[in-house]
Amino acid sequence: MIETAAKPRLPAMENSPGFKDFINDAKIESLIGRSACDPVWVREIIAKALTKTPLAVEETAVLLASDQPELVEEMFVAARKLKETVYGNRIVLFAPLYVGNRCVNDCTYCGFRSTNKDSLRSELDAEALAKQVRGLEKLGHKRTILVFGEHPRYDANFIADSVRTVYNTKLDPVKDGKVGEIRRVNINAAPQDIEGFKIIKEEGIGTFQIFQETYHHETYAKVHGPKTRKGNYEWRLDGLSRAFEAGIDDVGIGALFGLYDWKFDVLGLVSHAAYLKDRHGVGPHTISFPRLKAAQGVDHDPKFLVNDYDFKRLIAILRLSVPYTGMILTARETGELRNEILGFGVSQIDAGTRIDLGGYTEEGDAQVVVQTPKPAAGHHHEREARQQFELGDNRTLDEVIQHLTANGYLPSFCTACYRAGRTGEVFMEYAIPGFIQKLCTPNALTTFQEFLCDYAGPETRAAGEKLIAAELDQVADAKLKESVRNRLVQITTEKARDLYW
Ligand code: SAM
Ligand code: SF4
Repeated sequence: MIETAAKPRLPAMENSPGFKDFINDAKIESLIGRSACDPVWVREIIAKALTKTPLAVEETAVLLASDQPELVEEMFVAARKLKETVYGNRIVLFAPLYVGNRCVNDCTYCGFRSTNKDSLRSELDAEALAKQVRGLEKLGHKRTILVFGEHPRYDANFIADSVRTVYNTKLDPVKDGKVGEIRRVNINAAPQDIEGFKIIKEEGIGTFQIFQETYHHETYAKVHGPKTRKGNYEWRLDGLSRAFEAGIDDVGIGALFGLYDWKFDVLGLVSHAAYLKDRHGVGPHTISFPRLKAAQGVDHDPKFLVNDYDFKRLIAILRLSVPYTGMILTARETGELRNEILGFGVSQIDAGTRIDLGGYTEEGDAQVVVQTPKPAAGHHHEREARQQFELGDNRTLDEVIQHLTANGYLPSFCTACYRAGRTGEVFMEYAIPGFIQKLCTPNALTTFQEFLCDYAGPETRAAGEKLIAAELDQVADAKLKESVRNRLVQITTEKARDLYW
């Protein structure tokens, strides 16, 4: 069982020493208010981005102001090229795992908001969580992100216990008929105080994500309300700096697009990335850009909803602005759109995703404990009552892999970097000189081969092995090529697992 502290550990809401609110709304408004710029200047900025130099906020604003179709097309092409040079054709796969949906906040956009009385409130205890983890492992997943509402029950100790449970839950080849383990646990949860982050860090987490939702102060106040914990803009903005103070050097930022002018929030994200780099020596490992989706108990104000074309622009412009930051595109978007956007600079996607509590096992909510309101015997709650919003892409992991393989992307289940200590400043050292390719492609090839041996259907396996052979051919360094080839043989014939560089 998860040992929830008898008395929850509520964070002391104190900002980190030296914090300052670095978002200047008036300045950002003036930057996004500018008119279209001289194409020569726009092209110079695109050329600068292609040298893998992060753009200044003012330069990003120039790209945002340029909506002439031919310039936008040049940005798409450049974003695609930059992605290929920094990340290659790899796409890292993960799955989110919702642990608890109680929430003290009342975010106007979220199905978990406290005033949504139709929501079924519950959390997974250690046993139920382990069942979900086994469900994910049977599919072949190696990395997950644990997601929590904000509630005294989900304090730092509860989050840490949940992480431990995930790492300790491995498939038993005899009992389960296959091998499987989660090798990297990321977190998306409420901001902690420094002590809380330290407790969670102890369990060996990957990335800690906190999305600011919107960087625009007035809108932030409007959608969160002043009396909630989340209503404190500065506490949230400072969240990842407190994570750094606690020794977590792998963090993810994000904005929920659709709450305010998307251009403002792109500049907010770029400012945040620059702030973290200046203050802590390391930029964010990932940027997420969820788009507002329909959710139970929620009416969205349509004013700032982002259409598909602008969504593609914002992704391309982010790619060009922060070349070394991983970009995550989630299953909120439809499979069709995700397929199209993958090439624009996305490096991670989720697949086979279920966002309803208990969604990774057949039994569903029968495994979710402490339900409120309690369901009548034999009654299963509708999925909408247990999930935060509606998903756009319901394909299975195998289907997503088939699509990636058929389109020349290399699926990767790699979790090597943080296990080999390549995070934070060290990660930047590796990333910048292009070492990533030398480590990441081999790790993608071996983890993909593991997937093909252990979980893939016959068609997926045949297509995947063809892709691996073609990729191996492309490895220029003869010594590295030999080493990868040997490991692939070890995996297929000797059943060696979890080999990484
Ligand atoms: N409760 C924590 C928090 O607010 O930071 C955990 C995050 S919440 C479970 C994960 C993210 O989902 C939020 O940060 C928000 O960006 C996103 N989200 C909430 N409602 C959404 C909606 N209706 N459509 C799309 N994304 C949504
Ligand atoms: Fe709670 Fe997070 Fe949803 Fe806000 S976004 S209501 S804090 S779960």
